[in-house]
Amino acid sequence: MVIHIQKCQNCGSTNLKNIIFRESGEPDRIYAQCHDCQEFVASYVISPLGYYHNGKGYESFLRGIHRSGEFMSGRNIKKLFLDRRDGEERAFTKVIEELKNKEKKSSKNANNKRD
Ligand SMILES: [Zn+2]
Repeated sequence: MVIHIQKCQNCGSTNLKNIIFRESGEPDRIYAQCHDCQEFVASYVISPLGYYHNGKGYESFLRGIHRSGEFMSGRNIKKLFLDRRDGEERAFTKVIEELKNKEKKSSKNANNKRD
């Protein structure tokens, strides 16, 4: 697993704003802007069903499905939602653990640096 915290290429800040851009018939896009210097940092195109909004529940998930143009039975959608929710929560926990490990290592390395 590789964990990377996105930084502003202009000022090095990790204080970024994600702006969701939706246009009908187009995939959702995220524009990341630096909160500190306002620089345009990055943009992402979200794949169909690629966006998961934690804590927003089933209704929000359904709207995402409709936007993506997918057709499936209600039962399948419910299962898809539950699997997605549980999978995303597990993955997030792992990511945060890995991030803590990385930060521990890098603070050790910073203390050991002699140059
Ligand atoms: Zn910046």
